[in-house]
Order: sequence, then structure tokens, then C-alpha cells
Amino acid sequence: SVRAGIVGLPNVGKSTLFNAVVENGKAQAANFPFCTIEPNVGIVAVPDKRLNVLSELSKSQRTVPASIEFVDIAGLVKGASQGEGLGNKFLSHIREVDSIIQVVRCFEDNDIVHVSGKVDPNSDIDVINLELVFSDLDQEEAEKSALEKIQQALMDGKPARSVSLTDLQKDAVKHLCLLTMKPVIYVANVAESDLAEPGINHHVKDVMTLASELQSGLITISAQVEAELTELPPEERIEYLKSLGVDESGLGNLIRATYSLLGLRTYFTSGEKVAYDDFVTAGSLAAAREKGLLRSEGKDYVVQEGDVMLFRFNV
Ligand code: GDP
Repeated sequence: SVRAGIVGLPNVGKSTLFNAVVENGKAQAANFPFCTIEPNVGIVAVPDKRLNVLSELSKSQRTVPASIEFVDIAGLVKGASQGEGLGNKFLSHIREVDSIIQVVRCFEDNDIVHVSGKVDPNSDIDVINLELVFSDLDQEEAEKSALEKIQQALMDGKPARSVSLTDLQKDAVKHLCLLTMKPVIYVANVAESDLAEPGINHHVKDVMTLASELQSGLITISAQVEAELTELPPEERIEYLKSLGVDESGLGNLIRATYSLLGLRTYFTSGEKVAYDDFVTAGSLAAAREKGLLRSEGKDYVVQEGDVMLFRFNV
């Protein structure tokens, strides 16, 4: 669906409007699974009476109206482009929407503070437009400087991913979808006899060296064996793998490598915060707690591979 971002200065009625739109959308579309998918994202049906008529006439089993995703983007304040408030993070949310709905305060109410001291909708519009202009200028500058570096690398025959870029620069060139920016995994396809100890194969050794120079991933697999495994009944697969000296199909490795290459980490939500290995070794949450293996982490905690977590809100 299309995404529309609701923006505006604080206290102009964004949340009030967002909640009303979502609630109203839910009520109007009782038959449809419209929902608030995140606290600040709501999908609503585009009301269209013709759809109901058609649906009746053709006795449709399922009627799917067009939909719009409304995103309540709080936090835009004067100076956002300079990092005030949620700053750039918030501006990058606006970058991802298809259209901007700016709420401007045209109501007087002495009980509700206006950030600039008085109700002046046109000045509010100017303030926000200027923040967006500054942000676009930064973005454009970031793109220009990133492109210069990338072009130099490409001219030297080096992949774009070899260039070191700031987060802003990376973001600014993402839309180019450069082929050499994508992380790479080499899959060394070996004979089944080499599967147990692929490092002995000198071809694999060569690939290992190059992959490491190119900061790329490498896994070894026997595509032949993988194909044969699919032909075997599940109970014979383990036996077959064992006879080749390995305890797992290469597919698992490939999937995990692909996943971790993207910088993704697996965490499990179950009970409180504890590392997977500690949890399994301890055998139960109570035992893990007794051994002092549980941890509490703040919102800035960087999730580690294999963490088992319970999310606590408002504590
Ligand atoms: P946001 O910060 O832009 O999301 O603004 P909110 O939706 O939280 O609204 C801020 C305050 O203004 C709340 O107390 C609302 O109840 C109030 N408010 C919202 N719309 C109106 C309105 O049209 N008239 C009046 N008088 N108050 C409003």
C-alpha cells in the first residue's frame, strides 16, 4: 500500500488525528483485517461505496479494498536537521514515505502550549519546510561525497563495498543498488570426498585467501550431496552425512552465513535476558537465575547473537 507520513510541530494534533483515522478506519472496515501494525503505523481501507456494490453483485468471497498506511511521525521540531529532537533519525522516516501530511495548528487553546509561543500556521509550515530543505541539502552533500569515493574505487577496479562510508553516506547511495556494494559469499562447491576437510583442497585454499582479501564470506558445500540428500528419506539423511564425515547438511551453513552476512543476528524471545548457551546449559530459567546468568540491559544494548530476551516496557 501507499505510505503517508503524518508530520507537524508538537502539540498540533497529529496523534489525535492519527488515532482517530485508524479507529475510524477499523470501524468502517469491520470485515477487513485492518490493524495498527506498529504503535505508530496504521493501515486503513480507502472508503469506496462502488466496491461494496461490486462485491454484492459478484458475490465475492473476499473483498480487498485499496489501502493506505498512515505513519505517525512524531518529533519534528525546529533544528531537527541539526540533530535537535530525534533529528536525523526522524527525518529518515519521512524519507521512506510516499507523501507527507502536515498537520498545522489552526485552533486557539491557552491550555495547549504552542512550541513557538503563538498560533501561526504559515510560520509552522515554513519551519518544517526549512528543516526538510536542510535535510535534503545534507543528504545531497552526503551522496556527492560518497559518489566521489565510490567512483575512485570503481575506477581502480575495486568494489564499492571496499570504500569506508559514514552511515549518512551509505544511506544516501543505497538507492543506487550498486552491485559491488552488496556483501558477497563465495560457495566453494567441492567433491563429496572433500566435504569433511575442505581446507585440504588447494582450490578451496585459494578461494579462502581471496575471499578474506575481499572481506567476503566463504562456505564449502557439495551441491551434488545436497541434491542427493533431497532424494533420501529423512531418516537416512543423517546416516549419509555421517558416512561423509559431516553432521549437518551444507544448506544450514549457507542459510546462516547469508543471514549473518547481512548483519542480522538471531535472538529469541522467551523469559528473561540470558545467552542461549547459558540458558541451555543451566537447563531452566530458574537455574540460570540462580547461577546469576540473567542480565538486564538498557535500550541502547546491542543484541548479541543467540540472546534470549524478555522485553520489558515502562520499567
Ligand atoms: P501532537 O503532539 O501533534 O501529536 O498533538 P496531540 O494530538 O497529542 O495533541 C496535543 C494536545 O492538543 C492534546 O491535549 C489534544 O487533546 C489537543 N488537541 C488536538 N486537537 C485539538 C483541537 O482541534 N482543538 C483543541 N482545543 N485541542 C486539540
